[in-house]
Amino acid sequence: MKKVLMIGTGGTIASEMTADGLTPGLSPEKLLQFVPAISELCEADCVSVFSVDSTNITPEHWMRIAGAVRDAYDRYDGFVISHGTDTMAYTAAALSYLIQRSPKPIVLTGAQKPIYYDSTDSRTNLIDAFVCAGSEQLAGVSIVFNGRVILGTRARKTCSKSFAAFSSINYPDLATLQDHRLLCYIPGERTGEPRFFERLSTEVGLLKLVPGMDPELMRFALERKAALIVECFGVGGLPSYGDNAFFDLVAEYTAKGRFVVMTTQVQNEGSDLSVYSVGHRLKENRRVLEAYDMTTEAAYTKMMWILGQTRVPEAVQSLFYTPVAHDILHS
Ligand code: ASP
Repeated sequence: MKKVLMIGTGGTIASEMTADGLTPGLSPEKLLQFVPAISELCEADCVSVFSVDSTNITPEHWMRIAGAVRDAYDRYDGFVISHGTDTMAYTAAALSYLIQRSPKPIVLTGAQKPIYYDSTDSRTNLIDAFVCAGSEQLAGVSIVFNGRVILGTRARKTCSKSFAAFSSINYPDLATLQDHRLLCYIPGERTGEPRFFERLSTEVGLLKLVPGMDPELMRFALERKAALIVECFGVGGLPSYGDNAFFDLVAEYTAKGRFVVMTTQVQNEGSDLSVYSVGHRLKENRRVLEAYDMTTEAAYTKMMWILGQTRVPEAVQSLFYTPVAHDILHS
């Protein structure tokens, strides 16, 4: 029988109703008691690293989850991380950079409704997650939710209430589950050794453009961060409202050593700065990078991982455009 470690972190799946609304309180052991079927699938152990609403997750929490996987890696065949859905896509992306080329499955799951509700997605998602964590076909970090297996670097929460909460952005689902049976379309790489990383820079920010935005907001972010992800409109570019304020800021702060990553706030199909003059003129600046088909979650956490290792522009550029866990297809 496969051995799977479940790492509890809180979220709705583990929440109980309090006078202040839903609050995580159920231990992973307690969660497993709601789904006895799991004991027929694998030998399951549990550990709780913390218990929070995932709104409160920080990079420090990502390091703790990665550390729990690393410490137990040799003793288990796979890992289930139960997690709140709100920031699960960020955690999945961060873990994809912190734990690279894992031949063992590392599966995040959670739920839109607590496990003790009569009508809940918790039990199905948890069983599916254990099926995936014990599978010989999957590898690396993924999110298992509502019968879908989504690559960790490609996930996004796209529904705030319904059970079909997650989508795979610019990449197909890896697998589906029907009645807890796994149908794998894209098998994972099951050979080799995992590579664990222990540093993430918190000096990365994210700015979403809106029509008429005050350029001083960009200055504020560039002043404080080593890298700024800019969620542009459409295929990408910066606005000019009678002056070149945004372009001047990018030139000023990249000359001071900052990096700017241009991405799009459009969910599907990615950026292409070369199309319009509003984007094209940024292409010559080697400290301006482009996210292409990456998710914002992946671009953000990838820059945190990269800046945890280097600030050399050529190295940053090369690491950013080198695919990790199929996070970027454009080359
Ligand atoms: N607020 C919850 C969380 O992210 C939502 C959920 O788990 O579905 O922890």
